[in-house]
Amino acid sequence: MKLIHFLYKDEKYMGILADDFITPIQSIAGKEVRSLLDLLGEDFNQVSTHDFKLSLDEIKLLPPMEHPIRNAFCLGKNYREHALELRDKIKTEDNIPKKPIYFSKACYNLVTNGDEIDGHFEMTQEVDYEVELALIISKEGKDIKKEEAKDYIFGYTIANDISVRDLQKGHVQWLKGKSLDTHLSIGPLVLKENELLDLRVQSFVNGELRQNSTTSKMIFNIYEIIEDLSKGMTLYPGDIILTGTPEGVGMGFNPPKYLKKGDVIRCEIDKIGSLENTII
Ligand code: MG
Repeated sequence: MKLIHFLYKDEKYMGILADDFITPIQSIAGKEVRSLLDLLGEDFNQVSTHDFKLSLDEIKLLPPMEHPIRNAFCLGKNYREHALELRDKIKTEDNIPKKPIYFSKACYNLVTNGDEIDGHFEMTQEVDYEVELALIISKEGKDIKKEEAKDYIFGYTIANDISVRDLQKGHVQWLKGKSLDTHLSIGPLVLKENELLDLRVQSFVNGELRQNSTTSKMIFNIYEIIEDLSKGMTLYPGDIILTGTPEGVGMGFNPPKYLKKGDVIRCEIDKIGSLENTII
């Protein structure tokens, strides 16, 4: 099932997308639903819907949630070929990580398909894209075993972890270079699913294929990430985890292919859909 967050006649709704039509959700277990967060941890069999359907051209897409509940958790170098393309550019202790590399994105206003991404070209010329499978945590948990991890996953979506490489390298810690305004694009569709799927992950800049891999090539899979990240650290409903990007980022080319004003970046993941933004 695909879920979508949108604006219709100045009201926010969550809806179920099927055959290009959206059925807006009214409530779950008797509680009004206005965002993805309202659905988390609830029994989906208790959803009730409005008695009208909408087409995609009648609505304005919103990110699955407009503000994250806290910084998005991110994995660095979680695909072997991506770790290798960056080995001389972003130094870490091992070329191929032995433990997950975590960082976070402190983007407060999320953007989604059709929104503009600010290149902040007054301060950088090294704006890069990273297509990633993102997951949304459904319920609170700590010390979660990988065998139980699926019970904590609400669903999957697409993220573009926009990264400013000179800031990322210049400040020792990556937080600032990963967190400029508009630099987390996510959604628009959320696939309600918790199995480990092998999904093709691609990005295109102005139609040119740049990244092309599959999620089975992650070094640490989603269940292993949840087990490791939740050790001694509680995960909460609405937490977003970006599972890392495959090879083909702009910095990996020689010379690098960074984003420019007017570029259109499209991220695609099998079974979920696509996420497209223009750089301004
Ligand atoms: Mg990333």
